[in-house]
Amino acid sequence: MEIEVVRGDIIAQKDIEAIVNAANANLFPGGGVAGAIHKAAGSQLYEECRSLAPILPGEAVITRAFDLPNKFVIHCLGPVYGKDKPEEELLASCYSNSFRLCEENKISSIAFPAISTGIFGYPPKEAVSVVFNTLLKEIKTLKHLKKIKFVLFSESDLRLYEAKLKEIEADR
Ligand code: ADP
Repeated sequence: MEIEVVRGDIIAQKDIEAIVNAANANLFPGGGVAGAIHKAAGSQLYEECRSLAPILPGEAVITRAFDLPNKFVIHCLGPVYGKDKPEEELLASCYSNSFRLCEENKISSIAFPAISTGIFGYPPKEAVSVVFNTLLKEIKTLKHLKKIKFVLFSESDLRLYEAKLKEIEADR
């Protein structure tokens, strides 16, 4: 399994089969990651999303990617910090449900943004532990998936992810 951590924009991941959307319950375009993904994918994405909405915190659904350079978009609803509980479990479910969809659809590469850490207010340092704990728990079950990329918007998130990746690679 190749695990990569980069600073960048989730809509510019040309080498990746599936990108993950930090979605809202109604799978609306909205702001943040969802706004950027819908804008780049075109209106057909929302057309496909409408039939799949609403989704619950922790759930994930898959659609085509239309004008994006990817094959699929996996839409996850992260927990709103302080509101949707238990938040750790719900955030972990976003990642494990995304991995499950990759296996079901024979997807070999996926890119994640830092789900729930924007508008939904999850502290990035707590979120990154949930992300890597889930990854470590699931990694042995992944057969089709060969590459996992974490695409961070800020320098501080990048540093958090880099530090965590170093930690787990020392143990691997
Ligand atoms: P949520 O509602 O789940 O908190 P947001 O879209 O508000 O999701 O933000 C999640 C994280 O993604 C935040 O760290 C935010 O800075 C970052 N982000 C926003 N736009 C992009 C983008 N185009 N590519 C990658 N990350 C992004």
